Amino acid sequence: MSIFTKIINGEIPSYKVAENDKFYAFLDINPNAKGHTLVVPKKEVNKLFDLDVETYNELMSFSRKIAIAIEKVIPCKRIGMSVIGLEVPHVHVHLIPLQAMEDIQFVKKVKLNSEEFETISKAISSNL
Ligand code: AMP
Repeated sequence: MSIFTKIINGEIPSYKVAENDKFYAFLDINPNAKGHTLVVPKKEVNKLFDLDVETYNELMSFSRKIAIAIEKVIPCKRIGMSVIGLEVPHVHVHLIPLQAMEDIQFVKKVKLNSEEFETISKAISSNL
């Protein structure tokens, strides 16, 4: 079972942004930028392009809604999207508010306390 399945099942805490029957969105715990969000299909599949096409399309559509909400609450030039998966073998879309190219590079990290995570997740969630 992946760490993200444990998060979806509520066995590990997360700062939830949104959920429906197929997807779960929550804040990345080691964010590149404030508002860095992960969108995960509840179905545990390792690689993005191994998803069935319906789930893939729905993942993109769900991620789009989240990205639009993030952009409303986090000052940024735009929301970047990236899929990596080298650390956690369970498909997840990174949605990252960008000010500069380095924000998408997983090099510079932002430290946030639990209060800040809580405030950001609620703000995005209420702008969906
Ligand atoms: P990658 O698999 O390379 O796309 O990276 C996995 C991402 O998941 C990283 O950005 C981590 O910071 C994030 N991550 C790992 N564990 C957790 C967790 N428990 N809660 C939130 N984000 C996590």
